Amino acid sequence: MSKRGVEIGKNLVCKVGAGDKTMFWIDVWSGEIPFRERFPLLYDLAKNKRAKVVDHYKRLNDGILWEWAWLRVPNTEAENHQAEGLLAVLNVTTVSAGSDNWIWKGKENEEFAVKSIRNTLSRNLNLNEPTDNYFWNNWAAKKCSTFAWRALKGRIPTATQLRQRGVPIPSDRCRLCDQEEEMPNHALVKCREANGVWEQIGCWVKAETITQQETLGEMFDALEDYNWPKKKKKMVHAILLLTTWVIWKNRNEKIFRGKSGEIFKMVEEIKEESFQWMKHKSKLLAVNLLV
Ligand SMILES: [Zn+2]
Repeated sequence: MSKRGVEIGKNLVCKVGAGDKTMFWIDVWSGEIPFRERFPLLYDLAKNKRAKVVDHYKRLNDGILWEWAWLRVPNTEAENHQAEGLLAVLNVTTVSAGSDNWIWKGKENEEFAVKSIRNTLSRNLNLNEPTDNYFWNNWAAKKCSTFAWRALKGRIPTATQLRQRGVPIPSDRCRLCDQEEEMPNHALVKCREANGVWEQIGCWVKAETITQQETLGEMFDALEDYNWPKKKKKMVHAILLLTTWVIWKNRNEKIFRGKSGEIFKMVEEIKEESFQWMKHKSKLLAVNLLV
């Protein structure tokens, strides 16, 4: 959507009640831009960057007392200047009892509805045109498609992406191999096990060139070069979506549950699940397409 000039973060505005659903620094709730952009030095110092508005004030008899937990108290001239600015804004901001509501800008009287987004979008683009070249494959499970779509955009919680979002994690190195930073393409393509799985899957679907790519995006692009019948291409595409998901699932199980996933097990899982899909979705046995 941002490609089409629709900035969700800036159009979706919170009408704050008590501040129970609104993130103090990240959401737009007082003024035109989020506080993290308006007061970046303070945002850097804030201990909890995802705190809700309600976490930052106390109701006293004679009004509201705003307070924060800082990593370090603001003390430079520039930081103090921003702190004064923030307090000035908050002094004229009201919080009330009751829950917060989301509204779409320009529709302040209505509660947030998908329709409002659609209206704004349709002013900026032709809705019949695909938003990007991502192909939603209905043979793949929705969770796989959605995950791969996010992964292609780099929007998955690998160590580097979490750090970028301000999540305080001790290291951004890959916890499986400890060889590199855990960027999305490292976790899903380059890391030793991921790479091993792709090699076997590439061989299985007879698309070896996909395994010579550096990024997930290049892998999906490489698939385009094969001159296969439409159905075979769709099936292999679905298998790549599934593989992406299985690699990620394995990564999570290893990191968070200490399970010992192995390459051959992942490959087996992918093959088995693919056959199941093919039986249900394409009415053609995968085995016929793959030989
Ligand atoms: Zn790794």
